[in-house]
Amino acid sequence: MSAPPETPPAPADVAPATINIRNLSIKCGSCDTYQTLCGFDRRGEWNVYTYECENDVCEPAATRTLLEVPAALDEFANRDPGWKGGSRHGGGA
Ligand SMILES: [Zn+2]
Repeated sequence: MSAPPETPPAPADVAPATINIRNLSIKCGSCDTYQTLCGFDRRGEWNVYTYECENDVCEPAATRTLLEVPAALDEFANRDPGWKGGSRHGGGA
């Protein structure tokens, strides 16, 4: 009746080192609300996601956030190579 030894997660079970922007939240430091994904651009080695405040507090042009993800690690964009931002915004399900 001895407790099972603590088993650290096996390296094989750990997800490969990719970045999925779905797992990130971008919060505005000015109005303290989450920004909305409103644009996507492929710039060479980088995928650039644009987030903006969608409220009446911030001027989107002033608080816009550009999130740069190495294209090779970008799981979200690589899953759908033809995706260009489209009309699907971040968040939701
Ligand atoms: Zn804001």
